[in-house]
Amino acid sequence: MKPLGPIPAGYGEAAGRLTIDGQDVLALVEAAGRTPLFVYSRALIAARVARLRAALPVGVALHYAIKANPFRPVLDTLHDLVDGFDIASGGELDKVVAAGIDPRRVSFAGPGKRDDELARAVACGVTLNLESEGEAERVLRIAERDGRVPRLAVRVNPDFDLKGSGMKMGGGAKPFGLDVERVPDLVRRIVAAGAEWRGFHIFAGSQALSAEHIIETQAQTLQLAARLAEQAGQPVPHLNLGGGFGIPYFPGDEPLDLERVGAALAERLADLPAALAGTRFCIELGRYLVGEAGVYLTRIVDRKISHGEVFLVTDGGLHHQLAASGNFGTVVRRNYPVAIATRYADPVEEEASVVGCLCTPLDRLADKGGFPRADVGDIVAVFCAGAYGATASPAEFLGQGPAAEMMV
Ligand SMILES: *Cc1c(COP(=O)(O)O)cnc(C)c1O
Repeated sequence: MKPLGPIPAGYGEAAGRLTIDGQDVLALVEAAGRTPLFVYSRALIAARVARLRAALPVGVALHYAIKANPFRPVLDTLHDLVDGFDIASGGELDKVVAAGIDPRRVSFAGPGKRDDELARAVACGVTLNLESEGEAERVLRIAERDGRVPRLAVRVNPDFDLKGSGMKMGGGAKPFGLDVERVPDLVRRIVAAGAEWRGFHIFAGSQALSAEHIIETQAQTLQLAARLAEQAGQPVPHLNLGGGFGIPYFPGDEPLDLERVGAALAERLADLPAALAGTRFCIELGRYLVGEAGVYLTRIVDRKISHGEVFLVTDGGLHHQLAASGNFGTVVRRNYPVAIATRYADPVEEEASVVGCLCTPLDRLADKGGFPRADVGDIVAVFCAGAYGATASPAEFLGQGPAAEMMV
């Protein structure tokens, strides 16, 4: 038997079935009218924000990177709970505007911003995190054409990366941000052009579980920003310190020691280099805010045996949960936290693989895990489904279409 990932805290059981925010999964499936279904818990998201607020130094702003989960009720939940929103496309700009989020609380990063996206962002007061000199020149031209003052920050490709991170976004040749040595010139250019100078965005990586690595990266980020400010001869109004806070997905993963990260950051901020004396700081997080607050529910439609192995075939799969299938940036496939939601209190009785309904061997939600004996009609729960699930999976593959989504 292969181990399964750790089920996040905050879920319950009643009448032998999984409960989400106290509600029976069967009732939730009935309310949605179908499976597969993503259920997100407002209470778990709010609890996570509260824990971050308590751990992070006062005055450090908290931003949500909406690419983790742009579902409207998730945005509505976070509307008053976080300080800012980070977007990475014009489509995401539409989503934050539709949710009534003030564009002045929004920043826009990401390579390959098109002219129409830049123009719309400038027109509504979004801060652009510039990814290159070419992008800077385009946005300055557009702003002049439209008679507007753009709000501009520079995304820096740091000369270090976030150690142990699942996805490296800095260090070495990268499509993201500007190499360190070219940053001061661009800052001077932006200021000379009369733009509103907003500061730096330095994002070194994602999905780190080690407090030590995050603490080290934050220290390096502060040093780098101070050095760049001195070289550019400009103050740094805002410094986006990146994020990278990870959640435990796999067997043996330990949760991040958030309180340690917060305490170390408080110490650093109490002893800032002079160049950052007037700077306001923010942290941008995606999965840490919402990942553990979501569950993917899918119904078993067939139970079959092949060469002595049990396969539980579900009506869901990698078209909604690409990451759980091991096909979203992981090298070695390991099991997510997966359980039989309708036999949640039962002991492990057999080894089984949970597979999806797609006609590809990649479509596996759990490989040779230990489960209670489950049958057709039972509901499987895949945890840690609140981030990079519904919108980060190829829903149209094989004509399957999207899953239902609901907030409780
Ligand atoms: C993807 C991304 C994030 C969010 O990453 P998580 O691992 O979900 O926290 C934050 N900032 C930037 C620039 C990103 O590209």
